[in-house]
Parts: sequence; structure tokens; C-alpha cells
Amino acid sequence: MLEYLESLPLADHHCHGVLGRDLDRAEFEALLTEAEGTGPPGVSMFDTQVGFALRRWCPPVLDLDAHAEPDAYLARRAELGAAEVNRRFLDAAGLEALCVDTGYTPESILDPLELGRLAGARAHEIVRLERVAEQVAADGVDAARFADEVRTRIQGHDAVGAKSIAAYRAGLELSGERPSPAEVTGAAGRLMRADAPRVSDEVLHRFLVWCAVDAGLPVQFHVGLGDVDADLRRGDPLLLIELLRAMDPVPAMLLHNYPFHRHAGYLAQVLPNVYVDAGLATHNLGHRSPALIAELLELAPFGKVLYSSDAFGLAELFHLGALLFRHGLAGFLAGGADDGAWTARDAERVAGLIASGNARRVYGI
Ligand SMILES: [Zn+2]
Repeated sequence: MLEYLESLPLADHHCHGVLGRDLDRAEFEALLTEAEGTGPPGVSMFDTQVGFALRRWCPPVLDLDAHAEPDAYLARRAELGAAEVNRRFLDAAGLEALCVDTGYTPESILDPLELGRLAGARAHEIVRLERVAEQVAADGVDAARFADEVRTRIQGHDAVGAKSIAAYRAGLELSGERPSPAEVTGAAGRLMRADAPRVSDEVLHRFLVWCAVDAGLPVQFHVGLGDVDADLRRGDPLLLIELLRAMDPVPAMLLHNYPFHRHAGYLAQVLPNVYVDAGLATHNLGHRSPALIAELLELAPFGKVLYSSDAFGLAELFHLGALLFRHGLAGFLAGGADDGAWTARDAERVAGLIASGNARRVYGI
């Protein structure tokens, strides 16, 4: 089963750019987990599930033995240079398509075109909704014209999907109702009066989702774990059920989901337009990722589970996410076939759906 999955290119439906420059140890550790910076003195981010997984699987791609020590690994990385390292890991990921969220760029990172070229894959763009609204506000558009301008920019964007980061701001408890024009204008006015416009108003998050729905774009929602700005108390996808229901038949793509992946799997089963993945968590859980993948596949229909890496910054994460996902899914499918729970033929068909078929169908890519 693993060999079969290794022969299947993956569609990575949620990822970001990687840095095109060399990194020192502190910078590398800071990008390895969702923690802010490195650990306190005496704590290394290499001593984590993702750190161990990285040392197990990434050194051979740079011609080192598995389990290389962090300093030896980083020395080899520096010797090869960022361009060569990025090329090797993106190639090793075995991708056929990428959907790149271009809305988070704390510093210069590779754009979708460059990522796609390195991966030998088709690259598509995902438009980050809050970013569009913040740009419109920063451009000084009149509050009364805000809604039309945002709608026009989203509809005119050359993207295959949209993404909401409501979970990072107002939280996921968004009602299913469309906000009224007066509500949007009022919220836009408050946004524009801020020195640096930052969408965090429930009305605007909802308005933006409806703009994407009206444009017919699948809407990705950040769900569950992320960096410390993602308030997990308000990041459970069950909070989003009214809006998920209201936006049907436009697809809602629940990203990451951990530790609420079972809740997400439930929503994927009961609501026709809900799809799920386990991006970010897959590489963060490292050796424990097979349990996560098996739990995601408890209730979620196999036609509604997608692959994503949520790689950001480090090219290693494209490779690690893909490798751990293939291993976890292969173990799950082979285990069921061995138990006689399903046939090897069914297992291969499901592998094809989850690897890329579901993403191709939902995004029309
Ligand atoms: Zn992401």
C-alpha cells in the first residue's frame, strides 16, 4: 500500500511559500513549530515530534544519514544553500498540484509560480479574504463603497478558492445569516478608522465568506491549532455549523482541525458541503500522525478528506507532510485490507480520492 501511495502524486490543497534565503539555527527552530520563536533556554524545538520526524526523514534528501544531529543537518543545509534545499524538498514531496494561500507574508517568500516550478506541479492561488478587506480599507475606499469594492476584488481574483481566518480573530461562532448592507457599512467604517486595518469583526468575517460564496469559490476555514494567536477556545468547528449549513452547496474546507479533527469528521459526514484535512497537525504529530489520520477517517466520508501540508517557511515541511501523510494513510488502508474490512482494490481507490481526486473535483483543478 505504501508503494502504491508513493506512486500517487498528491494535491496539496493548503500550503504557503517557503523562504528563499539561508537560515540560522534559531530561525530554523522558530519555523519548525507554531511556538513564537525558539524555546526558553535549555529547550530545543528539535526535541519534539516534528523535530524527531524531521531528523528521521529529511537528512537523506540532503545526502546525510537519517537521524543526523541538528547542527550537522543545518551545516549541510547551509552548504547546499537555500535554493538547492528548496528544490530538493519540493521535488521529493511528489506533488501534482498546490493551492497556495498568499495572504500571509511576514517576509519575502517564494510565490506560487516559483513553488510550482520547484515542485513540478501546477500551482493555484487561494485568496485570503481578510487581507482583501484590509487592503480595500488601507486604500481609503469610502465606507459606503467598501462592500462593492471587496466583492469586485474577490470576484476578479484569479483564485480557485478563498480562505477565512475568522478563527484567528473573532472566532468560529459565526451565524448563518448574511449581514445587512447597513451592518457591513458600519463595520467597514470602524475598520477604516483603525491606524492599521485589521479585520476582527464578526460581521466582516461573515460578509467576506458570503462574498466568496457568491463568487462560487470553495471557502477554506482555519480550524483548530495554529500559532498562539489562534484562540483554541473559539476554534472548534462545531461553532461554525450554522454558517456551514447556510453556505451549502458551496464547499467549506475545514483546515488542520486538530485537536477537533473528530468534530470536523462528524461535520463532514452530516453536512453535504463540508470537507476536511489534517494539515499542519500531520507533521507536528510526527510519529503519532497515523493515529490522527485514522481518527479523521472514522466518520468523514472518504470522498471528503483531502491532503494538505500547511507548509510555511521551511521546504522540509512540504516533504515531511507528504511523507507522513502517505505513511499514515497507507498503514490505515493496509490494516483494513489485512483485517478483511475492505478489499485491496477499494483501498487503492480510496487512496486515489484522498491523494488528489477529491481536491481535483472540489476545486475544479
Ligand atoms: Zn496555513
